[in-house]
Amino acid sequence: MTEFVVAPPPVPSVAVSGSAERFPVRRIFCVGRNYAAHAREMGNDPDREPPFFFAKPADAVVDSGVEIPYPPLTENLHHEIELVVAIGRGGFRISRASAFDHVWGYAVGIDLTRRDLQDEAKALRRPWDWSKGFDRSAPCGPLTRAAQWRTPDKGRIWLAVDGETRQDADLAELIWPVEDIVAICSEGMELQPGDLIFTGTPAGVGAIKPGQRATGGIDGLEGIDIRVGSTPS
Ligand code: MN
Repeated sequence: MTEFVVAPPPVPSVAVSGSAERFPVRRIFCVGRNYAAHAREMGNDPDREPPFFFAKPADAVVDSGVEIPYPPLTENLHHEIELVVAIGRGGFRISRASAFDHVWGYAVGIDLTRRDLQDEAKALRRPWDWSKGFDRSAPCGPLTRAAQWRTPDKGRIWLAVDGETRQDADLAELIWPVEDIVAICSEGMELQPGDLIFTGTPAGVGAIKPGQRATGGIDGLEGIDIRVGSTPS
C-alpha cells in the first residue's frame, strides 16, 4: 500500500436521491454560454460561438442544504442555476448517438461565480479560475439516476433568491443539448466515471448577498437550497 507524506484528501462526492450511497466526483467541467438569452445578457452573440469549457476543482462541490460562507475577494457573488450531468462510463470522442450510455444521472447545481473577478479576468485576458473555481463554488443537489428520469431535452429550470424568481427558463432552450455537450467535452478530454458537467445557465443571473437563500430546481429532479453566510473575517 502506498504511504503518503500527508493525509490523502477525502473523495469529494454528491448525494444520490433516495439512497445513502454517494457519487464520487473526479472532475467538474462547466459549459460557458449555453442559453442564447444568457449569452446576450453577458454581451455575446449566441449564434457564432461553439461551446467552450472551464473547470472547477472536484472539492468545490457541496451538498444542497448547507450554508456557504460568503467567499473572499468579491462584492458581486452571482448565482447560475444549471443542469448537472454525471458521467458513469468514461470515453474519448463519444458519439452523440451513444452519449446517453455514458450518463449516470442528473442533478440541479449552482455555478457560483465571483462576477467582479470574472469581469476583470475577461478585461485583462486572464484565466477564470479565481472567479469560477473557488472553495464551495459548485453546490449540487442529489443525483437522480438517468434510468429513473427521462431525456433531458425539456423541462422548467428556475432559481429564486429569498423566494423571488430570478431565473426561469426551459431545458429546451439549451443551445447545445446534453448529448452534444457530452460528445464535444469528450473531444477535448477523455471523460471518466465521476466527472460532472455543469451544462450552462439561462438568463437572469444576478447577485446573492450575505444572509440570502437560493432555491432552485428542474422539473422532475430534486431541488437545491443553499444559504450564503457572512463574509469570513
Ligand atoms: Mn455557468
